[in-house]
Amino acid sequence: MKRRDFLMGSAVAGVASVCGSRHVVAADKCCCDGMPKLAPPEKPAELNLCLQWGAIPGTEIKQKLDFLEANGFAAVEIPSGKWLSDNVEPMKKAMEGRKLFIATACGPSDFSYVEAEKRDAEVAKFLPQLEILGTLKSVGLIICPARSKPGLGFPELREDFVTNTGKKLAEHAAKHGTSIVLEPLQRKETMFLRQVADGAAISRDIGPGCTVMGDFWHMSKEETSFMGAFISAGKLLSHVHIASLKDRKVPGVDGDADNYVDGFKGLKLIGYRGAVSLEGGFPKNADKTQLILNMVKLLREQWAMA
Ligand code: MG
Repeated sequence: MKRRDFLMGSAVAGVASVCGSRHVVAADKCCCDGMPKLAPPEKPAELNLCLQWGAIPGTEIKQKLDFLEANGFAAVEIPSGKWLSDNVEPMKKAMEGRKLFIATACGPSDFSYVEAEKRDAEVAKFLPQLEILGTLKSVGLIICPARSKPGLGFPELREDFVTNTGKKLAEHAAKHGTSIVLEPLQRKETMFLRQVADGAAISRDIGPGCTVMGDFWHMSKEETSFMGAFISAGKLLSHVHIASLKDRKVPGVDGDADNYVDGFKGLKLIGYRGAVSLEGGFPKNADKTQLILNMVKLLREQWAMA
């Protein structure tokens, strides 16, 4: 084989390997400028802005949902636990005829107890909550499998979560048309789950009913790339939290630090259509409503730039 032929063959082999992913178009349509190209998602991504319950101005359910609809939000994040159990029917009624969807419910959980009966009790506590979320057509229940110093060691905890506690919750969630949503935190909160890719791998190992989310605030401390992290989650990504990136307040209050364009590029590449939900505080004595409206404008501008 002549040297030129060999080099030509290598180049083609290189193209084939770069284009080997199922997400990538055929070789003859790929790499014409020397770079791999991702196939567009089946449906284009959407920016569905969302607020957590406590951040929504107003006191009554209807008042809060009216505010969301009037100000360009597409989704709402609600509390879990007693609030959820107490407000099933009022929420169902208040959601009738609205374009909003119920993204997630969020509440504390711990599946790392050494004692199996305590882990079973934690699972049992959430089963009825998943049933309620199913009836509300919610995306799912946010779960942090362990915080601080887990009782179980990491290998045991992962195995137990994937095959027992998390698996039972996910199966129950899938049966009721919803999911559990794993939330990676920061190493200072939990070493167990701190990166989106790891949450996605746990989610894949558990199977139907288990998804993962990304929280820009935690990701800014733990990930090397917002975009890379979101791409690694792909279709398993079901929820996103967002906050200002210096002080974890409403996006926009931290000036130039509040740049989400790279992350939004990742969300666009995977065709993300879930909620992007504010999880952050407000500066003291601030005009909360105005800051929320500023955030909506900022995030829409950055989404357009991505
Ligand atoms: Mg969060």
